[in-house]
Amino acid sequence: MADILVLGAGMVGVSTALALQTRGHAVSLVDRGAPGRETSFGNAGIIQAEAAEPYGLPRDLGTLWSFATGRSNDVTWSLRGVAQMAPALWSYFRHSAPRRHAGISRSYAQLTARATADHAPLIEAAGAGNLITRDGLVQLYRSGAAFEADAADAERLGREYGVRHRALSGTDYRREDPALRGDPAGVIHWSDSWSCSAPGCLVHAYARLFAGRGGRLLEGDAETLTQTFGGWRVRTVAEDVEAEHAVVALGPWSPSLLRRFGYRIPMIYKRGYHGHFETAQPPLRPIVDMDNGVVAGQMQAGLRIATGAALVARGAPADLRQLDRGRAALSDMLEIGARVEEPQWSGTRPCLPGMLPLAGEAPRHKGLWFHFGHGHQGFTLGPTTAALLAGRLDGTLDDGESALSQVLSPANRP
Ligand SMILES: Cc1cc2nc3c(=O)[nH]c(=O)nc-3n(C[C@H](O)[C@H](O)[C@H](O)COP(=O)(O)OP(=O)(O)OC[C@H]3O[C@@H](n4cnc5c(N)ncnc54)[C@H](O)[C@@H]3O)c2cc1C
Repeated sequence: MADILVLGAGMVGVSTALALQTRGHAVSLVDRGAPGRETSFGNAGIIQAEAAEPYGLPRDLGTLWSFATGRSNDVTWSLRGVAQMAPALWSYFRHSAPRRHAGISRSYAQLTARATADHAPLIEAAGAGNLITRDGLVQLYRSGAAFEADAADAERLGREYGVRHRALSGTDYRREDPALRGDPAGVIHWSDSWSCSAPGCLVHAYARLFAGRGGRLLEGDAETLTQTFGGWRVRTVAEDVEAEHAVVALGPWSPSLLRRFGYRIPMIYKRGYHGHFETAQPPLRPIVDMDNGVVAGQMQAGLRIATGAALVARGAPADLRQLDRGRAALSDMLEIGARVEEPQWSGTRPCLPGMLPLAGEAPRHKGLWFHFGHGHQGFTLGPTTAALLAGRLDGTLDDGESALSQVLSPANRP
C-alpha cells in the first residue's frame, strides 16, 4: 500500500482521500484552509443524477446573441474575462458540436448515473443523512414552447440514459408545492436527483469521516509541491510530508500549480454567486428557473439563490447584477424576503473544454495524478470519479470502469 498526498479538500479532494483510504492506502489530505470552504461550499447543493449531458456551449446564433447582448441572465461576461479564456472557449465551442457533444455525453451519463449510489455510503458513514433530501429537483418554465421542447428532450434522456422525470402543467405542480405564487407554463420534475441543505457541511462531514478512519488532514500550501527522488513532497504547517503519489484536486486552482510542471491546462472559469433570503414559504424541491438562469433551494442558511456563469477575469470584483436580476425575476413565483447578511460568496466552476473531468496519472510525471475539471457537477461527481481514480491507481477496475477511466485519463486528452 502506498503513501499518498491529496492536495485540495473540496468535494473532489475529500472524496479522493476517502476512496484511496478505503483501499488501504495511507493518505494525507492537504488544504490551505478548512475542508469544503471554496467552490464546494456555496454551490446549489444538488447531486444531479439528471445531468446526463454536460452543459455544452450553445452554438445557435439566437442564444449566442442573447449572451452577447446581456439579454440572457444565464451567462454574463467581461471583455477581459473572455479574452483571457479565448483559446479555452474556442475549444469548448468545438467540443460542443452536436456529434462530439453526444459522444462526450455517453461517457458523462455513466458518471452521473452512479453519483447518488456513490454518495450514499459516505452520507451514511458520515452521519450526514439529515443534510440530504432524496426528492429530486424541478425546472420551471414560463414559456409553453420552451416547456414542450424540454419535455420532449426529457423523454429522449429517459430513453437514452434511463433518467426519470415527470412533466406537469404549472397548475398541477402548484397543487403539489404551495410555495409557488403563480402558475408557470410547466414544470419538469427530475425525480432521481438529491439535494443537500449545506454543501460545505457535507464536505466537512466527509472530511471528518476520513480523519476518524485515521487519515491525516493537514494545513499547507500545495504550491510548495516538489518532486523528490522517490515521489513527491509538500510543506505543511506541521511538517514536510513525502509520498509516493500526489493527487492534484485543487478545483479551479489546479492549472496554476500544474503550469510549474509544464502542463498548460485550458480551463473555462465560470464564476457563480449565491445569496440567502428569508422566506416563510420555502419550495418543496430546488427550482431551476429556466427563464432567468438561477437555482433556488432551501438551505440551512435560508433560501439560497445561486447564479449561472459569469465569464470574468479571475480576481475581478464581485458584480451582483446576475444575482439581483434572478432574485427579482423569480419573486413572481416564490416569496423572497430580506437578504440574510453574510460575507458575499462567489465560487468558480472549474470547466474543461472537453466537459469531462480529468482523473488519472499525469502523462510526463510518475506518481502525479490529476483530479479536477468537474465543471458544473463537481459536488455530484466527486465520489464517482474518486472511485475511478483510486481503482486506476490500484489497477482494480472492472472492464467497464477501466474503459471509462481511460476516457478521463489526462494521457488521452489533446
Ligand atoms: C453557483 C454554483 C452552483 C453550483 N451548483 C452545483 C450543484 O448543484 N451540483 C453540483 O454537482 N455542482 C455544482 N457546482 C459545481 C461544484 O461546486 C464544483 O464543481 C465543485 O465544488 C468543485 O469541487 P473541487 O473539489 O474540484 O473544488 P473546490 O471545492 O474549489 O476545492 C478546491 C480546494 O483546493 C484548495 N486549494 C486551492 N489552492 C490551494 C493551495 N495552493 N494550497 C492548498 N489548498 C488549495 C481550496 O482551499 C479548496 O478547498 C456549482 C458551482 C457554482 C459556482
